[in-house]
Amino acid sequence: MIIDQRSIDLMRFLYPEFEKRARRALGSFNARGRYSIRVNETLRGIKRQEKLFAIGRTVKGAGATEKLPMGRIVTKAEAWKSYHHYGLAICCVFQGADPYLLKEDKQRAGAAWQALGACFTAEGLTWGGRWGFGDMGHAELQVDIKLDEMKRIVMEGGQGLLPLWTELDRILGVPRSWGGAKDFSRPATNELLLGEP
Ligand SMILES: [Zn+2]
Repeated sequence: MIIDQRSIDLMRFLYPEFEKRARRALGSFNARGRYSIRVNETLRGIKRQEKLFAIGRTVKGAGATEKLPMGRIVTKAEAWKSYHHYGLAICCVFQGADPYLLKEDKQRAGAAWQALGACFTAEGLTWGGRWGFGDMGHAELQVDIKLDEMKRIVMEGGQGLLPLWTELDRILGVPRSWGGAKDFSRPATNELLLGEP
């Protein structure tokens, strides 16, 4: 199998149009051989983002020094400000014992990450490797809607991400990509988003 089962399971939490594109990107990368990628994280709850945001700020993180007493931060995004909350982002690592290719030849590792980025870009996704801080395994589907607006739709509807996904279909002009509020093949994303991680 080109994509491992755990990755397929994790991608079921994504906005379906994004899920489709992410699966194609992973499939085409893994079909190249040599390295295989797997999904590490898809939907991220609000409480988990709050905890991650605190690291290196109010909670001591790794790599603390005299100059950097709280250690390194792990995210720039506050709660509600990450595409991960809306089923619009994935984080990937390489399969096997070296998920970030740290033991690989530097050039070869760099080329592998670039090839992964090209697979994401070919599907119209934004690759985190292009950013200044190089979030190499991250990809997201950027839609012409503000984060605050996405939050509003999620909170007002009382049905978690489901009304948002209907709106995203409309903005992107894609045919309805999921089965609506009665689509029980979709996990209960509202509880996952707002409940304990
Ligand atoms: Zn990510």
